[in-house]
Amino acid sequence: MNIKNNYSLKNYNSFGVEAYSRYFSYIGSNDEIKALLEWHNQSELPLLLLGGGSNVLFKQDYQGMTAVIATKGIEVIDEDQYYTYVKVAAGENWHQLVRWSVNNGYGGIENLSLIPGTVGAAPIQNIGAYGVELADCFHELEAIDIASGTVSLFDQKACQFGYRDSYFKSSAFGNFLIQSVTLKFAKQPHWIMDYVGVKACLSGQPITSKRISDCIIQLRQSKLPDPLAIGNAGSFFKNPILSSNEWHQLKRQHPKVSAYPQAGGAIKVSAAWLIDHCGWKGKRFGDAGVYEKHALVLVNHGKATGESLWTLATQIIESVEGQFSITLEAEPRLIG
Ligand SMILES: Cc1cc2nc3c(=O)[nH]c(=O)nc-3n(C[C@H](O)[C@H](O)[C@H](O)COP(=O)(O)OP(=O)(O)OC[C@H]3O[C@@H](n4cnc5c(N)ncnc54)[C@H](O)[C@@H]3O)c2cc1C
Repeated sequence: MNIKNNYSLKNYNSFGVEAYSRYFSYIGSNDEIKALLEWHNQSELPLLLLGGGSNVLFKQDYQGMTAVIATKGIEVIDEDQYYTYVKVAAGENWHQLVRWSVNNGYGGIENLSLIPGTVGAAPIQNIGAYGVELADCFHELEAIDIASGTVSLFDQKACQFGYRDSYFKSSAFGNFLIQSVTLKFAKQPHWIMDYVGVKACLSGQPITSKRISDCIIQLRQSKLPDPLAIGNAGSFFKNPILSSNEWHQLKRQHPKVSAYPQAGGAIKVSAAWLIDHCGWKGKRFGDAGVYEKHALVLVNHGKATGESLWTLATQIIESVEGQFSITLEAEPRLIG
């Protein structure tokens, strides 16, 4: 395992903010994972695991070890009447896995095309887009308990997946290193195509998982900034979930508010609508700003610091709270 000191993380977070880690290592094999955990337990310094760094905001330097998990491997391990099971190493790129699956005729994750980051991070917040979540095609994952080194399998129930949430993002936060994820691809995929843009893009074409993936890529490219061109972490805020009473009260005051009904009667309100309504879309303070095409996306126009992006996020939270009495929650992991 190669360890670097006082290492810049600018190229390891999609916001592209400058932050230094006291120690840094790039982990390419399961043996290196073992060595990393031994080093961590001996040093007693904090450990930050990173995949693609596309869901983190560094407000400060990190006073511990940052380890980028870059292990590779995609393997078909089993199949039955209904599913093909594919085990994928944590460091594989998520979007490349989606393209691998659609090119091989495996359906199920096509709606999750072009989500940046790694396979190992996908269960952390149960990534989701266009009506599909990781949980929909998840079989199990293999994770190492960082303190004891014990390897365990977690099935769907043990992962406690929720809306942009899981056991690993909530009660077991920071306790496990996800080493691999096994997905199950349905032999007769149930395609979700009811989003307006997806429907329009597909019209008149024979439907395949690959076609859907191509449309999702097109749509996302037209709406979201490419982190290589302009630093960002995708949606910065989660959509707030309101009870039916809270929703009716909001709707009475703001009849045009956008929302999506959830199972059990709760309502997911569009955080982008709330932020836009407060006038934040396209605002810029130095190099920290709100993307002009999407109010949910905070952007680094060049040299914004993590602290300045967080100051902007806090101002947005306060203004939405003031106007709607709703408290927005940040989606990325805040470091520092
Ligand atoms: C342009 C853009 C669009 C996006 N669109 C979406 C979207 O549509 N839907 C969506 O859900 N998300 C979206 N995101 C957020 C992000 O892509 C996902 O959350 C992704 O899963 C993060 O992967 P990562 O490898 O970059 O994770 P990182 O940012 O590196 O890490 C995220 C968290 O996972 C932990 N972690 C990483 N790897 C491991 C591991 N192997 N074991 C244990 N913990 C680990 C980290 O410690 C951290 O807490 C978007 C981001 C961007 C920049």
